[in-house]
Amino acid sequence: MSRSAIKKFKYSPFISAGVISVDDLLTLVESMKKIGAKNVKLTGETVFVWEGTEKPEGFEKAAVYQANQFKFGGVRPVKMCSAETFCANNKLPVLDLAMKIDELYHNTHLEMKMLIAVAGCRRSCSEPSTKDVGIIAHPDGYQILVGGAAGFKPMVGQNLGMVATEQEVIDTVGRIIEFCKVHGRRSARLGRIINKLGLETFRAHIMDGAPMPDEVLDIADEEE
Ligand code: SF4
Repeated sequence: MSRSAIKKFKYSPFISAGVISVDDLLTLVESMKKIGAKNVKLTGETVFVWEGTEKPEGFEKAAVYQANQFKFGGVRPVKMCSAETFCANNKLPVLDLAMKIDELYHNTHLEMKMLIAVAGCRRSCSEPSTKDVGIIAHPDGYQILVGGAAGFKPMVGQNLGMVATEQEVIDTVGRIIEFCKVHGRRSARLGRIINKLGLETFRAHIMDGAPMPDEVLDIADEEE
């Protein structure tokens, strides 16, 4: 059978508030598996919940995946749009890119938190403009936005620039994380640091390797 004859069929179950009993989830997964589903896209952080006075016996053995951290600081899991999973609009492949960013940077310790989103096109279903780092695929490369946030003081991400390859995206995200290791402070958000520093200074440092001016070091100390 030619590849062009292969269609994608999808079923996106409405799970109100994203909460489902483990029994119902098992039933759903088993019935999807029975008719041939191979992968499922989970949106946001998946959390299993127990009630009791002690951590359940066998927890360490059962919890086989690296755990997400919900403490304030650190690099959170990449938020990914549907792109290759079940959307045909993506301008460049982005799923591997998102997974590589997770593989390299997830849970990197920072005093501040860092949210990253990847979107396959400008429709921005993963809301990259509301994240500290947002990546949007265009036909000719990847646009990088910086400084977006929701929370108490929402901010819209600003355009850092375009890069041509996945590797350049990964390297740029790495340099932003290194910047935040040095200059980020608890409760700071990247957008407010950039606003104080100036986007051009930040861009020159991240994109062109310009040194940071001494006088702006520790700029985030006074943030909220
Ligand atoms: S951002 Fe674009 S590629 Fe991603 S799910 Fe939305 S429409 Fe599809």
